[in-house]
Amino acid sequence: MELPNPNPRVAEPTFGSELLRTLPDELFECPVVHTQPEPWELVKGLFHARRASAGAEAHEGDEPGRVHVGRVPCAQPELASAVDWVHMVQTMEHARVREVSASFGPASAVFGIGGGSALDHAKYTAWTRKLPLILVPSLLSVDAAFTKAVGVREGSRVRYVGEVYPDHLLVDYPLIQAAPPLLNRAGAGDILSIFTALWDWKEAGARLGEAYFPDVAARSARLLERLLEKGEALRDVTPEGLRLLAELYVEEVRLCEMVGNSRPEEGSEHYLAYCIEAQTGGHYLHGQLVALCILVAGAAQGQDIGPVRGYLGRLGLDWRPEAVGVTRDQLVGALCAMPSYVREEKQLLPGVFHFMEALSAEDAEAILKRVL
Ligand SMILES: [Zn+2]
Repeated sequence: MELPNPNPRVAEPTFGSELLRTLPDELFECPVVHTQPEPWELVKGLFHARRASAGAEAHEGDEPGRVHVGRVPCAQPELASAVDWVHMVQTMEHARVREVSASFGPASAVFGIGGGSALDHAKYTAWTRKLPLILVPSLLSVDAAFTKAVGVREGSRVRYVGEVYPDHLLVDYPLIQAAPPLLNRAGAGDILSIFTALWDWKEAGARLGEAYFPDVAARSARLLERLLEKGEALRDVTPEGLRLLAELYVEEVRLCEMVGNSRPEEGSEHYLAYCIEAQTGGHYLHGQLVALCILVAGAAQGQDIGPVRGYLGRLGLDWRPEAVGVTRDQLVGALCAMPSYVREEKQLLPGVFHFMEALSAEDAEAILKRVL
């Protein structure tokens, strides 16, 4: 069988320190910045200096805060103090994101500096306004910087509305190291999920005749091995650890693009996480919740979860339900609901819970006994 997309384009990160300084002046002439308070504190001095040297008037009143942005183009410096070119992202609700992105005046580039929401908002603005895009993740807990999909929220659902590639993707170590270590360690979750995702994919190929690409699966398995072998560096959030995680994200995104879906990295562990979120209404640290769900789904698949559990211990990512913020009862409830949950959520590609007719409380307890 032919691969749908053998040579996909993927974002190529630049690694180092103080990387914003290395970008060309013209990007700073009239920038639009989507960010969050903590990372902005760390880079705002540089933006003020570079805007000034790029020719834009820096004003005392340029502090962020208001959401109405860019009523005045940078070309009118006498009015430039009215420009809020820095937008603190608070929501990814589609209607609001559309409104904010349309409210900027002419701009030289869009910067996304922060976590997933700041990056996603910048991607949206760059995509709709056809502007150069610079992504600077302030933590590596999610893969938003590495994927081309532009995601927004509509109510409780995430909708992907467009595609965009960054002109510059900066993996800036000091900026990322300033975030709480737990957030970066949790980034391992979306690579570890390869463990359960590949089992689902292979089984769906064997049982249901779904398209399965052994070479891609082997490459994905190798990414997981690299993390398990070398990923301890992520515990202390060293440049080595961050670079490994970023490179694994890039490769994982490449493999998903090649097959045209997220089979190489996402499966029943994510479905269980979604079900827990839906049932409890709680908000969790994604990678930490996924880590717990990998162990539970891996046990449900009958896999030896020892290597993944051992790595999580060395990494210092506490996956126990009490650390994640779910009770054992909630976990049992979600597990029992999985066979019907995955049938209702028709967009989910088949995995271990699709292969079960039902799952009793005793079955759930038996699975959890292998994990907890
Ligand atoms: Zn994920």
